Amino acid sequence: MTHYDIIIIGGGPAGIMAAISACHYNQKVLLIEKNKRLGKKLAGTGGGRCNVTNSGSLDDILANIPGNGRFLYSVFSQFDNHDIIQFFEENGVALKVEDHGRVFPKTDKSQTIIKALERKIKEEGASILTGTEVVSVKKYDHQFHIKTADKEMTAGKLIVTTGGKSYPSTGSTGFGYEIARHFKLSLTALEAAESPLLTDFPHKLLQGISLTDITLTYQKHSITHDLLFTHFGLSGPAALRMSSFIKGGETIYLDFLPQKEDSELLELLNTYSHKTVKNALKTLLPERVADFLAQPFPDKVKQLNSKQIQELMQQIKHFPIKVTGKMSLAKSFVTKGGLALNEIVPKTLESKKVAGLYFAGEVLDINAHTGGFNITCALCTGWVAGKQAAVRDEI
Ligand SMILES: Cc1cc2nc3c(=O)[nH]c(=O)nc-3n(C[C@H](O)[C@H](O)[C@H](O)COP(=O)(O)OP(=O)(O)OC[C@H]3O[C@@H](n4cnc5c(N)ncnc54)[C@H](O)[C@@H]3O)c2cc1C
Repeated sequence: MTHYDIIIIGGGPAGIMAAISACHYNQKVLLIEKNKRLGKKLAGTGGGRCNVTNSGSLDDILANIPGNGRFLYSVFSQFDNHDIIQFFEENGVALKVEDHGRVFPKTDKSQTIIKALERKIKEEGASILTGTEVVSVKKYDHQFHIKTADKEMTAGKLIVTTGGKSYPSTGSTGFGYEIARHFKLSLTALEAAESPLLTDFPHKLLQGISLTDITLTYQKHSITHDLLFTHFGLSGPAALRMSSFIKGGETIYLDFLPQKEDSELLELLNTYSHKTVKNALKTLLPERVADFLAQPFPDKVKQLNSKQIQELMQQIKHFPIKVTGKMSLAKSFVTKGGLALNEIVPKTLESKKVAGLYFAGEVLDINAHTGGFNITCALCTGWVAGKQAAVRDEI
């Protein structure tokens, strides 16, 4: 039976980074991943371009981690988003910063990131077993015993980076929670987060359109970000963020032109008074959106009476959308809930109850907005768990 200093279960961003840092601190490391390739979910982020981190300040980053961001102060003081950027640049990946601080490889290809991570793991000397599912984990004789279908190995320390329960087709089927239950560790309730919204909106007319920096409002919550109209309703960062505040059954309001004050918009409409409403709106909005909003107003702008002008303004600035529900956990981007953080040491990510057992990434009760923030959490907690497991005394 082969013995390792550290075994890591799960080859997503958290596990890969844990393997790299543990090796960096001179440990004999094995990373086990059940998919044939590492980083399957990571590859699908940012529309297949891999939104590897975010360039914001620490305050920005924390503001975008609604699920227990403050737990990560100690992690970010050891390894943060700027270290991620430096890490990739030192490993030959040219990066670029897009809107809202989102960081991508200049190639716009996830494979650039995945290949750089694979190269680095090999360079650091970690062993990797892909296409191998861990089926059980036990601890006795001061060692972890890890079983796959046909192998058993032991380790002094174990890092669990199996992800959450969203998009299980990428491999994150919740095995980490089984490990937690085996060791009698507490779990908080799992919920869907960053969920696309189901609506009764006449979306066929707008299906496939994405809008930049619109505002969605529900009660005191106002979110300005990008929005995508889909065949089922709404997706894109604005809808995913709004999903934290609603359950289904609420009416939310869409401002198609939040950059324009009412008075400014009225002035613009007056400038185009000789045009049809449709053509006037086309100067301000994408053509299909203009067609959609102008449907009830076939006339020229100058032919509208003041009540109709008010109605048109409402359509543009305060368009009501009834949300009928949210996508399920499996079809949401992120899992809220997981390993209870009051049982994890914030500085080391080691379990307070089981010596030598570490957790990193989405398996923890931490959830962030899309835009690179979850990946930042995964890479930073991964690095810290790997390092801390490496430098701490034998159990
Ligand atoms: C479509 C989509 C788009 C997203 N876009 C963004 C975005 O733009 N920005 C952002 O910040 N976040 C985004 N996310 C979320 C982000 O991808 C995850 O939060 C992140 O990948 C979590 O990393 P992780 O390493 O903790 O887990 P994962 O990436 O889920 O990796 C866990 C790994 O563990 C493996 N595993 C599980 N059980 C076992 C087992 N028993 N044996 C062996 N291996 C096992 C799995 O196969 C998997 O590869 C997106 C998610 C999805 C689904």
